[in-house]
Amino acid sequence: MRKIEIDDTIRGYAQDYASKVKVKCPNVVEDLEKLRNYVAAHNPGIDKTAVTDYIDLLISDYPAVLTLEPKDWNAYIQKYDVVLQREPTMLTRKVVYGVSGTGKVHEAPLYERIIFCLRYEDARLILGEIQQQMGLKTCVYCNVIPTISNDEQVYYQMDHYQPQSKYPFLGTCFYNLQPSCGICNGHKGKKDSDFGLYVNADQHKVLSPFRFVPKVSCGIGPYPTCSEILFKGSGKRVTKESKDHEKMFHIDSLYAGRINEVSKLYENAFKTNDSLVQAMAASYGFENTKANAIAYLSNQLSLNEADIHKEPLTKLRQDTIKQMKEGGVI
Ligand SMILES: [Zn+2]
Repeated sequence: MRKIEIDDTIRGYAQDYASKVKVKCPNVVEDLEKLRNYVAAHNPGIDKTAVTDYIDLLISDYPAVLTLEPKDWNAYIQKYDVVLQREPTMLTRKVVYGVSGTGKVHEAPLYERIIFCLRYEDARLILGEIQQQMGLKTCVYCNVIPTISNDEQVYYQMDHYQPQSKYPFLGTCFYNLQPSCGICNGHKGKKDSDFGLYVNADQHKVLSPFRFVPKVSCGIGPYPTCSEILFKGSGKRVTKESKDHEKMFHIDSLYAGRINEVSKLYENAFKTNDSLVQAMAASYGFENTKANAIAYLSNQLSLNEADIHKEPLTKLRQDTIKQMKEGGVI
């Protein structure tokens, strides 16, 4: 829901990840060499020099690709595409990569074997722990489902922003693995999404490209209630990015059941008077504003946009409080 601009703190996390991967997975280059030699020798139907050159590129780029930043991806994609053009289907084509002791032939798409050699399964466990430290505790696409990781288990999916079947060299890149819930990852599948979590400062991307606009009206009860939550772009208008995001991740239906969250915030806003705000501010040590008091009453919600991924539904709740301020409710 909100992008992260890469700074020295983020680079520190990326370096920590890369060092841990290098320690836990010391044989990546050796395994890639074995794969290259075996596939080239046992798959007569495939252009073996193309396979060899592709894997050799990855061997020379490893481990730098672990921390390759988005601003450099295009140059790398072009470099790998030059080789890929010689055998365009080689990544998704099934190749023989080994034979068991009983003579059973092992076959799989080449990209899957590259990802295996990169030790993706180990890398995701290392990254899971680091993403928790970074406060990435909800799906970055919907901000509804928590992404939990503990005791070296990762109870969520890492979405490859640049799909692994097209760009396996980014298969374990820190900046390409985005915490995602099963629902959003399932909707995305192998399609491309505009929502790259990490951006470089010179990419001029809007960090917060979306805005929830709840429809609230006075009904029969004592407080205003929410009837619908609209998902829009940052200027509260539908944009290409918000439309694409909704189409891919079905945000409207995910949030249809969340109208009570908005109603609750409005109810608290109407119940909170100046003396209560003052007393709460003094007791709990926050600046004396109604927005802070309502946020505190809403599970101690942070009003800092950078904290959106720390708790589910933070984006919706922050945007509701913004709307109250703009509408003069608080
Ligand atoms: Zn999700």
